[in-house]
Amino acid sequence: MAFPTQHFLALICLTLFLSTTQDEDTPITRFQRYLRINTAHPSPDYSSAVSYLKAQAHSIGLQAQTLEFSPGKPLLLLSWPGSNPSLPSILLNSHLDSVPAEPSKWLHPPFSALRTSDGRIFARGAQDDKCIAMQHLEAIRNLRSRSFQPLRTVHVSLVPDEEIGGFDGAAKFVESKEFQSLQIGFALDEGQASPGDEFRVFYADRFPWHFKIRAKGQPGHGSMLYDNSAMENLMKSVEAVSRFRESQFDVVKAGKAMNSEVVSVNPVYFKAGVVSKDGFAMNVQPSEAEAGFDLRLTPTTDPDEMRRRIAEEWAPAVRNMSFEIIEKGPIRDYMGCPLMTATNDSNPWWLVFKQAIESAGEKLFRPEILASTTDARFLRQKGIPVLGFSPMRNTPILLHDHNEHLQDTVYMKGIQVYESLISSLSTYTEGSH
Ligand SMILES: [Zn+2]
Repeated sequence: MAFPTQHFLALICLTLFLSTTQDEDTPITRFQRYLRINTAHPSPDYSSAVSYLKAQAHSIGLQAQTLEFSPGKPLLLLSWPGSNPSLPSILLNSHLDSVPAEPSKWLHPPFSALRTSDGRIFARGAQDDKCIAMQHLEAIRNLRSRSFQPLRTVHVSLVPDEEIGGFDGAAKFVESKEFQSLQIGFALDEGQASPGDEFRVFYADRFPWHFKIRAKGQPGHGSMLYDNSAMENLMKSVEAVSRFRESQFDVVKAGKAMNSEVVSVNPVYFKAGVVSKDGFAMNVQPSEAEAGFDLRLTPTTDPDEMRRRIAEEWAPAVRNMSFEIIEKGPIRDYMGCPLMTATNDSNPWWLVFKQAIESAGEKLFRPEILASTTDARFLRQKGIPVLGFSPMRNTPILLHDHNEHLQDTVYMKGIQVYESLISSLSTYTEGSH
């Protein structure tokens, strides 16, 4: 008879456990609820995400408006008015969407936001970048509960489509009259986790160019040796690209620059051959061949010089080559300057940022260029200083990876860091521009 009683008690305990964990309203459970909304491409559930975040904003007392620059792609803009609204405002930006996940490769389902007994929260978006969205809100919640009053207005933007280029999200937002009316003086956008003890901060992104080179040449029998076949022309180009790649990589290997500080170029496909019934005709030299490359420019790379290199060295017309470059966003600001935010005494926002990190008892690694691309480039294009920062230290870099997760204590510490940042940035009065 003992068994049914124990069983019954276990059931009660389980029910109690489930109801308390489900009803609990803590920073962690609020984070988990956002993570459970599947905003992964190709069909992100933006409307559920926006209504959830809007409810959060209302519970904190923030003003909220939903903007829609492309149908079905809402952008949520939250505002905390400052006592001196004539001062330029602060913007905290994050994106609503995430990259897809392959559930079969994960230890826990990617939209379960499961928290393991050792405190790791597993979810797509846990690092990139739903953590910072909720940390922004939690920090504001805590500051408001302490009756903190900002001088500058603090805006929080949650934008769609960053993971597919941002062209229907941040790119359209920065061109809007709504954006202009915000008068933003300084912005924080996403950064990346730091495996070490120090936080990482990013002052620029690299810029992707996708380019294709095509070769044409005389077709001929596979047994012949002759000049200027399409394959020979393409292979010469691939060799030239490889030499350039090596020269950049050597600088990294010698420890003189980080990966993100050089130009990277990688072949991503080759296309050639005359198709036959059982594969390719092995005795025909094809008349056309093509290769595709992923090229990443640093903020100081001269785009005209790179175009010249592609045109003259990698795809010279004299060898029957042609090329196509697909540029992914701006590489210079409206004044024609590289898209970089100064991290020295010339930028007072940098000094306030650094000081706020130190006051939170934390350390910063030297400012870096982000190897990939974020929405920060659209803001920098407008001349706004932006730092990329996601407060995750002692954390493996798992963005876009299987088993993306974040430690609960790291998440909670990040909220404190944002409290320090938001209070310092929003009360900074000197050097307003
Ligand atoms: Zn991201």
